[in-house]
Amino acid sequence: MATVYTASRLAVLVACRAPSSCCSSSGRSTRVPLRAKMGTRKKVQAFVRVRPTDDFAHEMIKYGEDNKSIDIHLKKDTRRGVVNNQQTDWSFRLDGVLHDASQDLVYETVAKDAVSQALDGYNGTIMCYGQTGAGKTYTMTGATENYKHRGILPRALQQVFRMIEERPTHAITVRVSYLEIYNENLFDLLSTLPYVGPSVTPMTIVENPQGIFIKGLSVHLTSQEEDAFSLLFEGETNRIIASHTMNKNSSRSHCIFTIYMEAHSRTLSDEKYITSKINLVDLAGSERLSKTGSEGRVLKEATYINKSLSFLEQAIIALGDQSRDHIPFRQSKLTHALKDSLGGNCNMVLVTNIYGEATQLDETLSSLRFASRMRLVTTEPAINEKYDAERMVKNLEKELALLKQELAIHDSLSNRTLVNYDPMDEIQIAEINSQVRRYLEGTLDEIDIINLRQIQEVFNQFRVVLSQQEQEVESALRRKYTLIDKNDFAAISAVQKVGLMDVEGNLVGEPDGQSFGLGVAPFSVKPGKKPKIKKTPKDQFSSSARKEGASSPVSGKDFDMASISKTQLIPSSKDGDMKDMLARERETSSIEPLISDSPKEELRVPRPSTPPSRTVAFEEFKNERGSEINRIFKENKSILNERKKRASETTQRINAIKQEIDETKDALNFQKSLREKQGEYENKGLMIIDEEEFLLILKLKDLKKQYRNEYQELRDLRAEIQYCQRLVDQCRHRLLMEFDIWYNESFMIPEDIQVALKLGSSIRPGLVPISRIVCLGEDDQDRFSHLQQTVLPEGPDSITFYNAKVKTDQKGYGSIRRAWWRAACIINALNLRRTGVDQGYDKPIRP
Ligand code: ADP
Ligand code: MG
Repeated sequence: MATVYTASRLAVLVACRAPSSCCSSSGRSTRVPLRAKMGTRKKVQAFVRVRPTDDFAHEMIKYGEDNKSIDIHLKKDTRRGVVNNQQTDWSFRLDGVLHDASQDLVYETVAKDAVSQALDGYNGTIMCYGQTGAGKTYTMTGATENYKHRGILPRALQQVFRMIEERPTHAITVRVSYLEIYNENLFDLLSTLPYVGPSVTPMTIVENPQGIFIKGLSVHLTSQEEDAFSLLFEGETNRIIASHTMNKNSSRSHCIFTIYMEAHSRTLSDEKYITSKINLVDLAGSERLSKTGSEGRVLKEATYINKSLSFLEQAIIALGDQSRDHIPFRQSKLTHALKDSLGGNCNMVLVTNIYGEATQLDETLSSLRFASRMRLVTTEPAINEKYDAERMVKNLEKELALLKQELAIHDSLSNRTLVNYDPMDEIQIAEINSQVRRYLEGTLDEIDIINLRQIQEVFNQFRVVLSQQEQEVESALRRKYTLIDKNDFAAISAVQKVGLMDVEGNLVGEPDGQSFGLGVAPFSVKPGKKPKIKKTPKDQFSSSARKEGASSPVSGKDFDMASISKTQLIPSSKDGDMKDMLARERETSSIEPLISDSPKEELRVPRPSTPPSRTVAFEEFKNERGSEINRIFKENKSILNERKKRASETTQRINAIKQEIDETKDALNFQKSLREKQGEYENKGLMIIDEEEFLLILKLKDLKKQYRNEYQELRDLRAEIQYCQRLVDQCRHRLLMEFDIWYNESFMIPEDIQVALKLGSSIRPGLVPISRIVCLGEDDQDRFSHLQQTVLPEGPDSITFYNAKVKTDQKGYGSIRRAWWRAACIINALNLRRTGVDQGYDKPIRP
């Protein structure tokens, strides 16, 4: 009587006797891309189902106490020669041995949990493996004619629908498909259904981020158990019919019945939903080719089966090997189709169907090896959670409506009734644009804040206006000037080569009165602010200030203007020279003393009460006192410009010659290559060249000579330009300084102070910069005090006197007069010291 182990004994545990590798429990990450939350690691479950037989090999096959292992003992029998003679004992560790187990028990043990978890979102794969006739189909599908003997498949469908009924909180849809893989071809076992229609293209296995799917395989929605059974029977019938019509043995194909589930919560606010699928796989017979002794078609079938099963085994070995990164899923249709169902995030269960008979022991051993390998594979079952986009949008819309309502309540509570929160239309945007423009122009003081959307639009429009203005400025500049990109070195060097000149022969960017300059525009050219007097500077000054004396129409504004222009402007107006020079003057830090007596001193007309603008005065100065130096300055400048123009022309000529040289060189090279191609002629060691080439050589020689000459000329010109530039700068500097002195003496320094300063002093009053007089800083005052003490050593009493005087003055007098008065005192003191005359010492001229 065979020792029969039943599933009731599964709970008993025994130590693993399998090789250490079989017991490896350390996990590794899965290679199948996960679509959901990671679960805990889990081993593939491998069960063995033994086909009932009266001829069970008791002596050879023994089950472990816990029913979780099988020991095989082989008597040494050389006649059999089936297995390795060296090895007679094997031990396989498993998750359970099902001997004489009912279909019911098999389902409970093998499939129930996996199916149940599939409804919770876990993918599952249940696979039957074993030699033909061992009971794979019986286990998977069962006997269709007998309800009691129905297999895993119908039971799984039953469980699914039963569980759905138990979950009224969820709307769960069930779909099924039935795929057959025969000789590496894919067949849809449900394609005969009337609504499927013929498949135009052969089925293909497609991988996408959601996983693997079979393109062309019909997937059927089943709303109830009965429909699902009908589909299963349809598939089974097709499988049998095909085995007749196509003359194929159903045992030689792999069949995959898949149940797809999708569970949406009936609570609308729940956007998450879960999907899962459960693959129920009935594999082809695993018997080895050598044993079948088949030929022809059968041989072909066997070859395919062996190959695909061997690839399945390879994939499983790879999955079980933690050091392997690549799993060869695509080697066969079977492994490819099951790619996301082997290992990965699935619950995986293997049922190995074996014969318990001695005669089948070799195949049994092979099947058990497969089972124990399968147990090494680790999976990480995880819930496939997804988000329902449509439901999400609906929920968000709902929330948005609610928030808007709430906002409206808030607004009405705070008396903000007219606030609109809708997106802005074109008219509103245009209005904001106009507000921004007016704000920038200064005609609108502030932009009222209404809401966040409006603030954002205001910023947007700022950007729009700014970029428009940038474009306008740039295009205006482009219309007027040739702009060169600072980073465009080629263009810069080209400009430098031609002497930095513009079309008129002026230095580009260098103000000279006719060109343009950067900085603040002169008052008179500012838009919207017309000058009060539209006379030429000369008219203005000569007629009003000089000839009409005190009744000067020159306003104080003009004076201010001149001050501004002195420090900031490089204008493009008629009085350009003056401003040009004034600007240049800023660059000159030291002032050379330049003594020049005024020959027209006695003829001086009474000075105007308000000094004329510097610009106006400068024109006058150039024509009178400074006429000589101005003439020299102009002369030098015209020489400089003439030289620059010549240098520019020479550069252009040089460039043209250079270009011609290059072209001639190219032509010569071309001639040379032609000559080389056509074969060269030599006469007494001399190369014979044709006339054309000869002329080119002559031309090149001539061009090079021209180039050298022109280049020499350019070098000379540049030296001259440098020299002339220095002369011009010097003249400019001198002219300005003379002007300053003259201007200060004529208009700024009180005449009485001038008289005081004149008394024996060698310093001309106008030489001291007016700015120094006007604002004596702390430091200056200190220096002044120091000077007092050092220059008046012989009259120590005078120091206290002057100190007291200075203090009194600081209280009551204007700074200019005060400073000059002090200066006058010192100079007087110096004079007295020098001449020894006491007179006037204690009576300095009071300003
Ligand atoms: P396989 O699919 O592995 O080739 P089958 O499932 O077709 O084998 O089984 C071969 C035969 O054995 C069938 O007639 C089947 O009814 C019978 N059979 C297999 N296993 C059992 C079992 N556990 N109990 C009763 N009959 C079985
Ligand atoms: Mg079968």
